Amino acid sequence: MNPFTYSRASDQQTAINGVAAHEHAKYLGGGTNLIDLMKMGVEHPEQLVDINRLDLTKVEQLPGNGGVRIGALVRNSDLAEHNLIKTNYPVLSEALLSGASPQLRNLATTGGNLLQRTRCYYFYDPAFPMCNKRDPGSGCGALEGYNRIHAILGQSDKCIAVHPSDMCVAMAALEAVVRVQGPNGERTIRLADFHRLPGETPQVETNLQPNELITAVDLPALPFAKRSHYLKVRDRASYAFALVSVAAILEMDGGRIKSARVALGGVAHKPWRAHKAEQALGGKEPNDASFRAAAEAELANAHGYKYNSFKIELTKRAITQALRTVAGMG
Ligand SMILES: Cc1cc2nc3c(=O)[nH]c(=O)nc-3n(C[C@H](O)[C@H](O)[C@H](O)COP(=O)(O)OP(=O)(O)OC[C@H]3O[C@@H](n4cnc5c(N)ncnc54)[C@H](O)[C@@H]3O)c2cc1C
Repeated sequence: MNPFTYSRASDQQTAINGVAAHEHAKYLGGGTNLIDLMKMGVEHPEQLVDINRLDLTKVEQLPGNGGVRIGALVRNSDLAEHNLIKTNYPVLSEALLSGASPQLRNLATTGGNLLQRTRCYYFYDPAFPMCNKRDPGSGCGALEGYNRIHAILGQSDKCIAVHPSDMCVAMAALEAVVRVQGPNGERTIRLADFHRLPGETPQVETNLQPNELITAVDLPALPFAKRSHYLKVRDRASYAFALVSVAAILEMDGGRIKSARVALGGVAHKPWRAHKAEQALGGKEPNDASFRAAAEAELANAHGYKYNSFKIELTKRAITQALRTVAGMG
């Protein structure tokens, strides 16, 4: 590990100034991703600003519209078990509980989860010379390498890594909004615009500016989100990242689907909102044929590689199964 200095901020402005003062500074949340990356020599911040004492630990009902504000330092465990989340947004509670282990969830924060980095083997191993994220211009080792966990949607020839978060997939389906504070004040970023596809610059993973502090995530009021489910398909039943995951929400009108929200994890560089599947579901009866047609529509342009083409059919089946569960079909 490289030498670094450490400071603990007692308020937001001190934290922001602390990061802005150094070219290579980082905020420290639970540290469950950043410290690992530092130990492995993937990240080399020269200054860590510990934000754990900031007053960003509440989950609160928003006045007026009935939505919920989640402080950036709310731990994944606390968020998953919070009554407002379990009752109104079960898809988010289920997604959080499917991630990592209880010990990790006790430390991991909402802000840190949003910014956790890909689990691509080639990114994680600095001994491997090719990774456009670690070393822009060096190439993508996964393209011709062992690419079993990699992307099938939205990838580029510069990077086929996937975003590893479960929480973010549920938040994408819920159309969450991220609140950030920077040297120039506060702004909001829709979760849909927060993470980026790799394109030509896979090293730029989000639209957050380097000094900006995530302060909260807002969930809009969405009464029909009570009817929602998170399905995670993985190699082990626990303590494993998603090969494919699906966040599904259905709004019913009599015997038909009025609207649907579907987001996918483990398939793209960002949580993937399945707009084509959603459009295909509108007005349909909830049954296997309409679910499968929606999955086919979403995956029509999917592209697999030597070791991960199985993910295309797996994703179709996962979408169908998640929708079956939400519709009460088992
Ligand atoms: C063995 C293992 C298994 C795991 N399995 C899963 C899994 O199945 N599913 C899953 O979703 N995740 C999984 N994780 C990842 C885990 O969820 C993340 O490590 C965690 O959410 C990161 O949160 P943190 O607070 O510890 O972030 P940190 O490690 O503290 O920070 C991560 C990044 O976010 C930045 N940051 C933190 N807070 C803020 C803020 N408020 N504003 C701006 N920047 C900020 C940091 O500077 C850093 O760049 C696993 C992790 C491990 C180690």
